[in-house]
Amino acid sequence: MFDSLSDRLGGVFDRLRGRGALTEADVRTAMREVRVALLEADVALPVARKFVDDVTEKAVGQNVLRSVTPGQQVVKIVNDALVEMLGADEAELELNVAPPAIVMVVGLQGSGKTTTTAKIARRLKGRDGKKVMMASLDVNRPAAQEQLATLGGQVEVATLPIIAGQQPVDIARRALSAAKLQGFDVLMLDTAGRLHVDQALMDEMKAVADIARPQEILLVVDSLTGQDAVNVAQNFSDQVPLTGVVLTRMDGDARGGAALSMRAVTGKPIKFAGTGEKLDALEAFHPSRVAGRILG
Ligand code: GDP
Repeated sequence: MFDSLSDRLGGVFDRLRGRGALTEADVRTAMREVRVALLEADVALPVARKFVDDVTEKAVGQNVLRSVTPGQQVVKIVNDALVEMLGADEAELELNVAPPAIVMVVGLQGSGKTTTTAKIARRLKGRDGKKVMMASLDVNRPAAQEQLATLGGQVEVATLPIIAGQQPVDIARRALSAAKLQGFDVLMLDTAGRLHVDQALMDEMKAVADIARPQEILLVVDSLTGQDAVNVAQNFSDQVPLTGVVLTRMDGDARGGAALSMRAVTGKPIKFAGTGEKLDALEAFHPSRVAGRILG
């Protein structure tokens, strides 16, 4: 991931650092190249444009161009801007409420929603010592509820018993009362996906969110889908009050645009990165580490 972006940017900055003095024109030329590199990595156009404008404005500041190592300074400005673009600080789940805290997981079918639900449940249980219950509200995809139950067995996390034919809002109600009665700290709701964003899906998300009043609504997006991931995120974020994003398949060779655009498009932090099919392949997302990796 990020390999070709990293190579491209490396080339631009090596040239900048290689020169002693820099003119405003040098900076502008370099930033045009940065813009192309970002677009080729599938970063959304408005995001790339704003990034380059912000960096250019800071970099043509008198002190930078007059400094002893102007190239170095420009790279530092780019690094800081990248960290900011990725979300500045590491963002945790906000679960400090009277239990059960509710985490709703949303996203398109195949994005890795069910796997991610189980991964997060595993982490909350193992790392934070929480008593977690999961419930699948996915009545669309055959065997989705059974899939979550199987994953629950693997990570040793309870799942809500399945009642065939029950609809999502009713399952959510039942899950809430079961979690309350049985003293669970966290209830995770794995919602139905669709192949594409459609209004029925959004209406269902909203109805479930109205009932469950979740502390966290996490959007799961497949980082391999690039520009499409950005559009999906925009659609969900317009209609559902997201609190964060989880990017899956970060172990793949995605060009990175989804990761780089997500924060700007949704206004919400990337909270986790999925890094494999295994249920322990989930990492907290560290913007500064990712920026460091991109800039080599
Ligand atoms: P859902 O339809 O959104 O619930 O998707 P699933 O959770 O069923 O995941 C679809 C496929 O993607 C499964 O084969 C998962 O093992 C796989 N998957 C999920 N997350 C990741 C990830 O971070 N990396 C990789 N390589 N595969 C993943």
